[in-house]
Amino acid sequence: MIDYHIHTTRCGHAQGSMADYIKRAQELLFLEVGFADHLPLLIREDPTLTMSINELAGYIEAVEVLKRDFPGITIKTGIEADYFPGMEGYTKRLLDQHEFDYVIGSVHFIDGWGFDDSRHIEGYETRDIYDLYANYFEMVASSASSGLFDIIGHLDLIKKYNFRPKKDITSMVEDVVLEIKGAGVCIEINTAGLRKPVGEMYPSDEILKLCARAGIPITLGSDAHNPEQVGMDFNLALALASRVGYSQIAVFKKRRRDFIEIR
Ligand SMILES: [Zn+2]
Ligand SMILES: [Zn+2]
Repeated sequence: MIDYHIHTTRCGHAQGSMADYIKRAQELLFLEVGFADHLPLLIREDPTLTMSINELAGYIEAVEVLKRDFPGITIKTGIEADYFPGMEGYTKRLLDQHEFDYVIGSVHFIDGWGFDDSRHIEGYETRDIYDLYANYFEMVASSASSGLFDIIGHLDLIKKYNFRPKKDITSMVEDVVLEIKGAGVCIEINTAGLRKPVGEMYPSDEILKLCARAGIPITLGSDAHNPEQVGMDFNLALALASRVGYSQIAVFKKRRRDFIEIR
């Protein structure tokens, strides 16, 4: 098994040494793990959210050291990059300066509001939830077609605090699935949602079903922010993946995609 979404203390909101995350993956007999810490934010510096730009090279070097220290498990160098409309060029230049195995593209901000940050949850009170979902999914669609990313992170993160629109969102979800398919990128099954107020994986069963039908590949990620969360609830993720028709999981090396069979 693989876990492609693991953070480090550099993001300011994770615990444990990087080696402890690897040790946990080895306990679980995982074949492969990938760190995907947050790329430095391009809109402002915030040490409680991401590493600073000066820490990026050290992060990549630290993953290289782990590869030497733990030869018994495959370790990948990933990154989770925010998608900011209008900043694609800058994001690309930053990503191109380093050799990543894969880049997860995530939307955590809508017009500067960190909607998945519990410190700013009051933002839901003043917004129309349906419009918010529409806005969010449009940004995810743009992130997919931007060409910046290999994997779309936590596809329906906007549901995290369980604010749900009253109107049906099927057509907006179908649009984003179409865009992802057209862009040729992967999505992840991210189990962190099970540990959040929404209490379900990202994406939902229904959305994953649409993705499977469209032939969009998947990776797996726990979004671990402490070592105990590595691989958490992957039995549920795999059961869901199989149920909706997946038999393979995508893996990446130097941003080239390959597949392994789900067993
Ligand atoms: Zn994220
Ligand atoms: Zn993450």
